[in-house]
Amino acid sequence: MANLSLKHIYKIYDNGTKAVDDFNLEIGDNEFIVFVGPSGCGKSTTLRMIAGLEDITAGDFYIDGILSNSLEPKDRDMAMVFQNYALYPHMTVYDNMAFGLKIRHVPKDEIDRRVHEASRILDIENQLNKKPKAMSGGQRQRVALGRAIVRKPKVFLLDEPLSNLDAKLRSSMRSEITRLHHVLGTTFIYVTHDQIEAMTMGTKIVVMKLGVIQQVDSPMNLYDYPVNEFVAGFIGTPQMNFFDAKMDYEGKDVSITSSFNKIVCSVDDISRIDIINIINKKPVVVGIRPEHVVLCKPNDKNAFECEISVIEALGNECNLIVESVVDKTRITIRTLRNDNFTLGQKIYVKLDLSKMHLFLKESTNTILPRIPQTMTVRATLNKDKLSILGHKLSIPSFILDKLNGVNYYVSINNDSIIKGTDFKIKIVNKEKINNRWVFKLKHKDEYLFYSQEQYIDGDYFEFSLSIPSLKIFDENGQLVIDCLNKYNEIDGKLVPHKMVLPVLDKNLVEPEMYERLSSNNFKDSSGKKIKIKNSNIKVFNYLLLGKEITPNNSSIVKIYNLLGKKFELHQIKFSINSHDIKISEDGLFAGEIKNIIDYGNETYYIVNVNNEDILIFEPNEKRNVGDQIHFNIDNNVIGVTDINFKVRLI
Ligand code: ADP
Repeated sequence: MANLSLKHIYKIYDNGTKAVDDFNLEIGDNEFIVFVGPSGCGKSTTLRMIAGLEDITAGDFYIDGILSNSLEPKDRDMAMVFQNYALYPHMTVYDNMAFGLKIRHVPKDEIDRRVHEASRILDIENQLNKKPKAMSGGQRQRVALGRAIVRKPKVFLLDEPLSNLDAKLRSSMRSEITRLHHVLGTTFIYVTHDQIEAMTMGTKIVVMKLGVIQQVDSPMNLYDYPVNEFVAGFIGTPQMNFFDAKMDYEGKDVSITSSFNKIVCSVDDISRIDIINIINKKPVVVGIRPEHVVLCKPNDKNAFECEISVIEALGNECNLIVESVVDKTRITIRTLRNDNFTLGQKIYVKLDLSKMHLFLKESTNTILPRIPQTMTVRATLNKDKLSILGHKLSIPSFILDKLNGVNYYVSINNDSIIKGTDFKIKIVNKEKINNRWVFKLKHKDEYLFYSQEQYIDGDYFEFSLSIPSLKIFDENGQLVIDCLNKYNEIDGKLVPHKMVLPVLDKNLVEPEMYERLSSNNFKDSSGKKIKIKNSNIKVFNYLLLGKEITPNNSSIVKIYNLLGKKFELHQIKFSINSHDIKISEDGLFAGEIKNIIDYGNETYYIVNVNNEDILIFEPNEKRNVGDQIHFNIDNNVIGVTDINFKVRLI
């Protein structure tokens, strides 16, 4: 039993290939996790980093809460099963299974008990005296599994274990492995490029592309709510249909026009959409699964005519490939068996709008997310107040100065909904999704979604809005006021700094770091070991806004591990939350207040420091433009990103 936690994990190979890019995942006890994605997307690399067979370039890997980046593979209590079995050909099945235990000096009768138990589970008890070459591929893979089972590991790691087997055997081994997971009650991590294996085996699937996680979800959620076009197209056979379209309002309805048809739907049909996408007429891609294109009558709403060009009879179901009569766009339809279909036949179909997907052409991300994060509503300006959702919202004067029209749109982010009583809106739906409650709110014909962990009783939800996190658009959808980005992104460097590094004080560093330092287990970016002496080593300071800050010890170690001695050559971006900057008389940094952003209950200063504008939150005093202020930045709150590698170091 084990809990694994991967936080901001990166892998950059020596030749510069970034195989894994900011991988974050929590793996609980007894889960069956599948990493799936096309060849080369970083699945095996991630698995090998978990196993300890590959160094982690940056990020933190925890096993049961203990930082374990540099834990030896043999101490991780994990067993790996590979595609090519890796059995010893000269040994019997029994000896192959017993070998790992023998070299660990497990007593003979215990080995015997475990081998028999595993072979019983795998149904190979009567094969124990055979040699691998006398066995079929499926049986050999069972032996490889048996060899992992006898070790009673905390985690099973399986790297494409079924790729060498034929289709029928793969299917039966799939259910074998799923059964094994139930019997053993252990965490399984399984790598495959085959979406059917992923869908049938995983309790949680991680879809990857080019080293980046696209979506982590249950199999059915991936199918029903893909977050982007890639996931939508990767999961499901036959593949989802995609076609380019434009959206616009048509009176109160919305039209989605493609090269061969025009769908007119009500806002209710697509209530999870952030309407700013419609207002801005963003090009979209409509996605519809073959089973959601349905046969209909010619005069049904949104019906369009097609001609059948291929019929694939699958028994009780049937796939039709049809061409729209307008421009021959091909669409795949999955329908029930119907022996009367003929090639060339004209049929009318329509899309099941409740199952339709919409992706932004530009980003390929869905604009009908399962849990909407941002929703836009109409607003009208009346004197110094914006009427939104039936409430008149007071607006700070620096925003009012920029508003000279009457009609606006306001984008409300989930985080901009805060405790308060300004708004009271009807809850029309409450749904629990992945440990969060999602509330659908409706005011007249406008929708808003809000999600949080706690349940909300009653039919109404009361809240206020945090003005700094709202975006305001004019009536043409042009951004007038952006939400306040509370983070300062500052370019800087690491500069050499000679010091006696007190790292070998056990109380000052994390145990894992202590071990690495005391064993001199430093490596530079090319993988070469660097010897670090206990004293007087060349370390570095952060150079930002013209001043130097000494990083904390664990940050030094992490950064040094990746950049090595060449740290000076790297461009660094520092990220600091405006709320973490402390104004104080004797502060290291000094600057002049250029501008004041006063939200009434929250005040921010834009301060010019060393020719850069820095945002600083002020909880207490009121100051004026032109005032000089001093401030400090705590080294523990500075985020550090390497621009050259595009790796978040801290
Ligand atoms: P997958 O398991 O998804 O097929 P891998 O994790 O094997 O992908 O590989 C991810 C990327 O890293 C690929 O571009 C691959 O070419 C590259 N890669 C894998 N191993 C190495 C290596 N030892 N050295 C350099 N590049 C590698």
